[in-house]
Amino acid sequence: MSTQDCIFCKIIKGEIPCAEIYSDDNVLAFLDIGPVSKGHTLIIPKQHFPNIFDIPAELAPAIMHAQKIVGKAILATTGATGLNIFMNNHSDAGQLVFHAHWHLIPRFSNDGLKH
Ligand code: 5GP
Ligand code: ZN
Repeated sequence: MSTQDCIFCKIIKGEIPCAEIYSDDNVLAFLDIGPVSKGHTLIIPKQHFPNIFDIPAELAPAIMHAQKIVGKAILATTGATGLNIFMNNHSDAGQLVFHAHWHLIPRFSNDGLKH
């Protein structure tokens, strides 16, 4: 798939709207359109990489920085008492959008979600 057809690249370019949570030179965070729980957020690199194996290691600090900033903000604003951070890589792992992204899923006690 070319980056022109990539839905997350379109979000980065502003061609598709999103509920933005955080943005810097390298990373964008926005609410997931189909939230698993209140405040479900996606963090994506602003450059198109299909999955984690394509992301240069130099970007890792920027991504972790965003995970911490956004994660803390999500906990504070939703009142969540836990947070799952994970990603799916390749379709057999459940990846549907082939622009690398991390899920941040707020968790609440007895929320009924699987760990
Ligand atoms: P994956 O299964 O690839 O890890 O997850 C893709 C995620 O992207 C899904 O949770 C889905 O709800 C979300 N998503 C797909 N299209 C859009 C969109 O256009 N806008 C937003 N905000 N989220 C999207
Ligand atoms: Zn993309």
